[in-house]
Amino acid sequence: MVLHLRGTVVLDDEREAGEAWVVGGRLTFERPSVEPTAVLDGWVLPGLVDVHCHIGLAADGAVDAATAELQALADRDSGVLLVRDAGSPADTAWVRDRDDLPRLIRAGRHLALPKRYLRHYGRELGSTDDLPGAVLEEAARGDGWVKLVADWIDRDLGPDGDLTPLWPADVLAAAVAGAHSVGARVTAHTFATESLDALLDAGVDCLEHATGATPDQIDRIAALGIPVTATLLQIAQFEAIAAQGDERYPRFAARMRALHARRYQLVRDLHEAQVPVLVGTDAGGTLSHGRIADEAAELVRAGLPAREVVAAASWRTREWLGVPGIAEGESADVVVYDADPREHIGVLEHPRVVVLRGAVVAQA
Ligand SMILES: [Zn+2]
Repeated sequence: MVLHLRGTVVLDDEREAGEAWVVGGRLTFERPSVEPTAVLDGWVLPGLVDVHCHIGLAADGAVDAATAELQALADRDSGVLLVRDAGSPADTAWVRDRDDLPRLIRAGRHLALPKRYLRHYGRELGSTDDLPGAVLEEAARGDGWVKLVADWIDRDLGPDGDLTPLWPADVLAAAVAGAHSVGARVTAHTFATESLDALLDAGVDCLEHATGATPDQIDRIAALGIPVTATLLQIAQFEAIAAQGDERYPRFAARMRALHARRYQLVRDLHEAQVPVLVGTDAGGTLSHGRIADEAAELVRAGLPAREVVAAASWRTREWLGVPGIAEGESADVVVYDADPREHIGVLEHPRVVVLRGAVVAQA
């Protein structure tokens, strides 16, 4: 099958082409000698990236393979052709053998402590000292990423229960150094201000949520060049989480409300400090899959330029994850739109054609 891509083919921040072709599943800018099977007109973008997504996870924990497949298909049909999972209790290595499912970069299981994360989601270690060893095990199980839970409510504090860090700073430093020694990168779930400095000292490679970042910490994150996945769809749920905690954990509830109230300002502050703000839906768990357009729209609502959000949802993050975008000879993983999503972010809601590994896998 030969596809002719025509219109505006977006390569990156700077470069566009007027046309390209798909031959034998690969992209080329050289006109093939055979007639194309189909002509796809429009705005052609490198396949979208959901950088915080949990295939294999639902509200009560791990799901079976059939459910995980439906999750992956929902992501794919939304234009997401590359997923970095941010921890999954199910072994989803098989997804990587399926040509019709998005490319998947797994992080193994979330690393947490008993009662210090959502039940049935993570791997609960017996002691904080077990973290460095567990990081090495999950690094071996995953595809180059490890996910830590850096802070969570400590309910043992009773009415004073609030977000507190899970790991001592020296343990975190040893754990991150261990991951780096085997070539893995580390990302961390963090809501609280109190966990961030130790994560940055330890040399973490990415931050998830980072809702507690202070101006000084934002400056540190910027200086270190660490991206932050904003997960605004997830942060939108903080008000409901606070309401559940009002009676027993008033401190925690007040904190979650404050983090919720400043969520858009935080995203603007990160962007103004030139921190890369990544697009991740946090699908799996309580949020449904296939909502990359909603997350992107939230980031624009927060005040980020649509061009920046689209770049982060596509070529820039593909490059950061080491997966090629639209380039000569690379796998044809592209999404075609009727209009330019860099001008109107809502365009992302309606991909017209999704091409994965050279095959048309979804069509409006
Ligand atoms: Zn998550």
